[in-house]
Amino acid sequence: MDMQPTEVLIIGAGMAGASAAYSLAPHCRVAMLEREAQPGYHATGRSAAMYSETYGNATVRAITTASKPFYFDPPEGFSAYPLVTPRGSLLVGSASDHDALRAVWEELRARVPNVQWWTQAEILQRVPVLRPEMAHCGVFEPDAMDMDVHAIHQGFLRGAKAAGAQLVCGAGVQQVQREAGGWRVETAGGSFFAPIVINAAGAWCDEVAQLAGVAPVGLVPKRRTAFTSEAPAGCDISAWPLVIDAQESFYFKPDAGVLLISPANEDPVSPQDVQPEELDVAIAVDRVETATTLHIRQVRRKWAGLRSFVADKSPVVGFAPDAPGFFWLAGQGGYGIQTAPAMGELTAALVRGLPVPQAMAVLGVRLEDLSAHRSGTRATAV
Ligand SMILES: Cc1cc2nc3c(=O)[nH]c(=O)nc-3n(C[C@H](O)[C@H](O)[C@H](O)COP(=O)(O)OP(=O)(O)OC[C@H]3O[C@@H](n4cnc5c(N)ncnc54)[C@H](O)[C@@H]3O)c2cc1C
Repeated sequence: MDMQPTEVLIIGAGMAGASAAYSLAPHCRVAMLEREAQPGYHATGRSAAMYSETYGNATVRAITTASKPFYFDPPEGFSAYPLVTPRGSLLVGSASDHDALRAVWEELRARVPNVQWWTQAEILQRVPVLRPEMAHCGVFEPDAMDMDVHAIHQGFLRGAKAAGAQLVCGAGVQQVQREAGGWRVETAGGSFFAPIVINAAGAWCDEVAQLAGVAPVGLVPKRRTAFTSEAPAGCDISAWPLVIDAQESFYFKPDAGVLLISPANEDPVSPQDVQPEELDVAIAVDRVETATTLHIRQVRRKWAGLRSFVADKSPVVGFAPDAPGFFWLAGQGGYGIQTAPAMGELTAALVRGLPVPQAMAVLGVRLEDLSAHRSGTRATAV
């Protein structure tokens, strides 16, 4: 039996905790403490599984682009399945959205040069169910991808374990106490000690910080609902991109032969095992039927998940300013899958006292945009 002392405890084994464990395990002794019987039960298992380099703020986009080499050309043996497959993403608008969409396109193509401006004819050729007035113009991102979230998450967990990391499920953290030289963590599955704790508890990150007596960062979990519905009869939807409207008031995309639809809601709630609201589904049905000729008769499966943000919508990565050895890995918002490889690598570098990896720094990933003590984490910040 391995009696070496653990050097890093990771609280939460969703995508954030798993990717951090994957990058850290070759360098130090890691244990992941997961409350649920299965990691991936919360946000990680409930996403829309899209990779888009044009989504999110500039910091998020830089971390997403930094994750691209991993997703497009994963390490040998990481997964038996491709991690990403082509989908494309199409932002559409009416005539009144023209100027705003044009400005978005100008800004996006500076970073992602193959982003295209699409006319109404091009849009309707690709997605014929859109009503012409809702599809006056659009911005198309050809390299947006579907992600295999399960394969990615399992790949990180498997790789971490192969490098010696431990995964303890049923280990909901109940107490976190500073002890000489580290942190004593009491869980439903036993007592653990390590010099460094990584707080990767998703929507619960501020609650975990409070257990440790660490100042919260102002994380707000936001409910997002999604559901699947039959594809329209006689219509091959397989080549449709993800379609999102200029106001981000709905999106839909093909998903294993059916349509995945969301009202793109962001409803603030407390951390919880969030469930879908009937009203969210009804709103999405109404918006999609208004924008298209689709008739959504039946909801096959519906779910909701939490996208957790701080005020400036960038993630929080780095050691807490007020507690030695307490590391934040929080606020992944709606981007925690597409950014996971780079976030894991960045976490491993910072935990080991190294700078931002060069490949990320050249893309514009800066510690001051991510740290727990930046002013932008709180809505009240000026
Ligand atoms: C509807 C929806 C669509 C989305 N679409 C996309 C998308 O297309 N692309 C994308 O990149 N992202 C998307 N996201 C966002 C993405 O799912 C999240 O950013 C990501 O899963 C966050 O991972 P996480 O590990 O931080 O959180 P989680 O997966 O929630 O993991 C946190 C883990 O911490 C554990 N935990 C909490 N408290 C404790 C405790 N006290 N003790 C022990 N363990 C604890 C939980 O059980 C949980 O397993 C979407 C999210 C939703 C809800």
